[in-house]
Amino acid sequence: HITRTNHLRLISRPAAASVHTAPELKDKSLFKEQSYINGQWVNAKSGKTFEVHDPATGKLIGTMPEMNKDDVDLAIKAAADAFPSFKKTTGRQRSKMLRKWYDLIIENSEDIAKLITWENGKPLNDAKGEVSYAASFYEWFSEEAPRLYGDTIPATVPGNRVYTVKEPVGVCGLITPWNFPAAMITRKIGPALAAGCTVVAKSPGETPYTAAALTELGHRAGIPPGVINIVTSLENTAEVGGAITASDTVKKVSFTGSTGVGKLLMKQSADTLKKLSFELGGNAPFIVFDDADLDIAVAGAVASKFRSSGQTCVCANRIYVQSGIYDAFAKAFTEKVNQFKVGPGFQEGVTHGPLIHDRAVSKVQAHVDDAVQHGAKVLAGGQKLSDLGANFFAPTVIRDMTKGMKISSEETFGPVAALFPFNTEAEVVSLANDAEVGLAGYFFSKDTQRCYRVAEALQFGMVGINTGIISDPAAPFGGVKHSGFGREGSKYGIDEYVTVKTVTLGGI
Ligand code: NAD
Repeated sequence: HITRTNHLRLISRPAAASVHTAPELKDKSLFKEQSYINGQWVNAKSGKTFEVHDPATGKLIGTMPEMNKDDVDLAIKAAADAFPSFKKTTGRQRSKMLRKWYDLIIENSEDIAKLITWENGKPLNDAKGEVSYAASFYEWFSEEAPRLYGDTIPATVPGNRVYTVKEPVGVCGLITPWNFPAAMITRKIGPALAAGCTVVAKSPGETPYTAAALTELGHRAGIPPGVINIVTSLENTAEVGGAITASDTVKKVSFTGSTGVGKLLMKQSADTLKKLSFELGGNAPFIVFDDADLDIAVAGAVASKFRSSGQTCVCANRIYVQSGIYDAFAKAFTEKVNQFKVGPGFQEGVTHGPLIHDRAVSKVQAHVDDAVQHGAKVLAGGQKLSDLGANFFAPTVIRDMTKGMKISSEETFGPVAALFPFNTEAEVVSLANDAEVGLAGYFFSKDTQRCYRVAEALQFGMVGINTGIISDPAAPFGGVKHSGFGREGSKYGIDEYVTVKTVTLGGI
């Protein structure tokens, strides 16, 4: 295991001309190669570590502790020990802690953005956007913490007085993916802490340094020891998940990731009957009706489909375009996509970075090949950009998609825009809803009646009308069907971390 100082020196050697490998951080102590348990930076008890690589260059970024059940149990114990006193803090006290943490993230946003780009690959501008989105959950929930009201209920039974209080559920296990290394974790820690819970969070194996830096800022904000614990693992992920779900001390699991892992965690949580919330995979339809504003629809499709190179759970996966506007849309959209500049996220002017790893590249290639074999036509991209590195794939537009092709039923999670023609509203609503999952759906139209009608008919947790971007800390985020249950952000987000206790006083 190399020390951080040695290590930073090692990786700060320029790799190839103009490719920025190790970013210069203003505050180098935000780069932590350890996990965080009970207010301390720690290694795995076994001493094992795993490596993390820059997806743009393939170079080693550093190592992190490869934790196992023993380490997770220590983290759970720390969270359980911290819970009784944290539960007693007032909403206002917790609000101040979260607000301080928010301020520190904003102050250090450039460094956090650099860490995101380094380990996730997204362009620096997108990473900056993610930092402010991530921080906004601490701001939002710092405002919710003092307003966790119960009800006073007019009793049905004469002489009784009934009221409710909202209490924190207890220790929470949080598991998040690599595609938003900052925002997925703050969207859970924010409401958990606002409610008075303590947490054990497993950071993503591909992107653990952003979570560690955020945790260091939480430490500086004065979050008490044991309230936030971060465990790290790559090889032992299933064991770590098993330790969290098997523990009777952990009262709740909040998971963001794939539908398959969500189902596994739900089964594993059955014996301990945990409270669960799951933000799982999507396969978003993006519908452009003939009466849409073409420029707005194209801009919406660019934003929704290609943000983070298509590696977002809400990104358009099936773009349905009505026959009257199909050719014009395909042409205008392809022109925009041809203007993208793909490259390492630190490079000036780059609009789209690499995918997270070569498995993601292979899946994208397989989806494109399948479509082409079945008669679809490539308008842009369609292949790897091997000159840039192993993980780059050209932003791709394919037209003349049909229902049997893989993209119509599987989440591509990459930079492939697949255009499906359609004729009628009834037909496209039925196609859009013909999916196992139901996270986000989008449509573009200037007809007000149609806007209400289609928004009501779509079986998705979130619907965007005439916009491709729907994320907002003030708006509930979550899905239906196999996209999971529970909501994050908004006034509802905190409900996932509380139990409602009813108190009845008789004999008045
Ligand atoms: P993934 O399910 O493989 O991994 C997500 C997280 O779960 C990671 O931290 C991973 O280490 C962990 N994990 C994997 N196996 C586990 C196990 N057996 N026990 C415990 N933890 C385990 O998903 P991914 O491929 O990394 O992320 C992409 C998926 O996440 C996509 O399907 C995407 O749609 C989904 N996603 C959903 C949302 C949402 O809000 N609905 C947001 C972002 C991503």
